[in-house]
Amino acid sequence: MTRSPLRPSDPRLDLEEARALDARNPLAGFREAFVVADPDEIYLDGNSLGRLPVRAREVVRAAVDEAWGERLIRSWGEGWWGAASRIGGRLAPLVGAGEDEVVVADQTSVNLYKLATAALEDRAPRTRIVSDALNFPSDLYVLEGVARRFGGRLEIVPAAADGVHADEAAIRAALDDDVALLSLSEVAFASGYRYDAARLTEAAHAAGALVLWDLSHAVGATPVDLAGWGADLAVGCTYKYVNGGPGAPAFAYVRRDLQDRLTQPIHGWFGQADPFDFGLAYAPAPGMARFTVGTPPVLSLLAMEPGVELLRDAGIGTVRDVSVALTEYLIALVDARLAPHGVEVVSPRDPERRGSHVTIAHPDAYRLTKAMIDAGVIPDYREGSGIRLGVAPLYVGFEDLWRAVERTEALLARGDHLAYDDARATVT
Ligand SMILES: *Cc1c(COP(=O)(O)O)cnc(C)c1O
Repeated sequence: MTRSPLRPSDPRLDLEEARALDARNPLAGFREAFVVADPDEIYLDGNSLGRLPVRAREVVRAAVDEAWGERLIRSWGEGWWGAASRIGGRLAPLVGAGEDEVVVADQTSVNLYKLATAALEDRAPRTRIVSDALNFPSDLYVLEGVARRFGGRLEIVPAAADGVHADEAAIRAALDDDVALLSLSEVAFASGYRYDAARLTEAAHAAGALVLWDLSHAVGATPVDLAGWGADLAVGCTYKYVNGGPGAPAFAYVRRDLQDRLTQPIHGWFGQADPFDFGLAYAPAPGMARFTVGTPPVLSLLAMEPGVELLRDAGIGTVRDVSVALTEYLIALVDARLAPHGVEVVSPRDPERRGSHVTIAHPDAYRLTKAMIDAGVIPDYREGSGIRLGVAPLYVGFEDLWRAVERTEALLARGDHLAYDDARATVT
């Protein structure tokens, strides 16, 4: 295997090396496609909200001023109608799906509810759902609610003893002939653990269950291959590494051969075979349209398209190569410079098993987060896990990581974080 030019075999970890790596970074030019209000601020949110693409601002302005302001209702016929499936089709290659297998709609939690319900209906009389303790709590709440509706239950398989890795053997062992659905987040939100999705999908199928992947922390950062995995269903969020904007609508994937077999629980007119017939009885539309419900949030929908296009331009393979080089570099920096101050990497060390964020732990992690923000380094804090440092390869470079660690080391050495209050704010 040839070593990437972005991964020096003998890293020096100095500023000059960081700059040399940025000079070789094939994605370095993409930073200009984003609004960077304060060039001195290093944005490492982990990643709950990606940066604003310059193009998204233009798209929203045009949508407000021209389409909404001037064209009004005519705009539905001039691009609004069908935008959800068109943009879904543009997003599809980022997750290894066909254009007709993805639609943009609703929120991730809502799509999870729709597809999990469709899966349980399909797998009757099976009623059990399997997930694990690394999954995002909202997913577990939704799955528990769905299982209960069917008189079944959600089994939450414990994580490995380190709380960082999943226990994939235990997940496979939980798949028996009562299981209707296996649902996991392909990249875990806290530790960044990345599952062996192909193997787990195969195991679920061998047990007669369907699989639903939540791709929220994977899409736009790691190569997702839904077709290659043989996945049945997937959902994901577009405001993280897709840079779709706050509250951007989510997406849903249903494998082509399942689309007309499955029905979803919310019978809305957008999912109806002929919505402008205004008939009194519901008949589901063919294809992905049946998994939509009602009028999409048009401004948010249009705003997310530029983020999708930027990822397509960059190529997800390149994004992944750069992401791995950046997270490896960040881990080397943390080990060398922050570990002496009590900081510990709590993400998987094997890049194959890691997404695009690195989580670090410290006994005073909450106060450290606040001190980092005041020092111009923006991470996010997750209770019980630590500090997430998100590495969005389209706009985070090696020098950013070097500076972030330099600033964090300096504030730890001075004990700046000790001056902060430990009381939690609403949004962390
Ligand atoms: C971000 C995220 C969500 C977000 O759900 P919303 O319905 O958009 O609030 C859901 N699941 C996972 C795994 C996430 O990371």
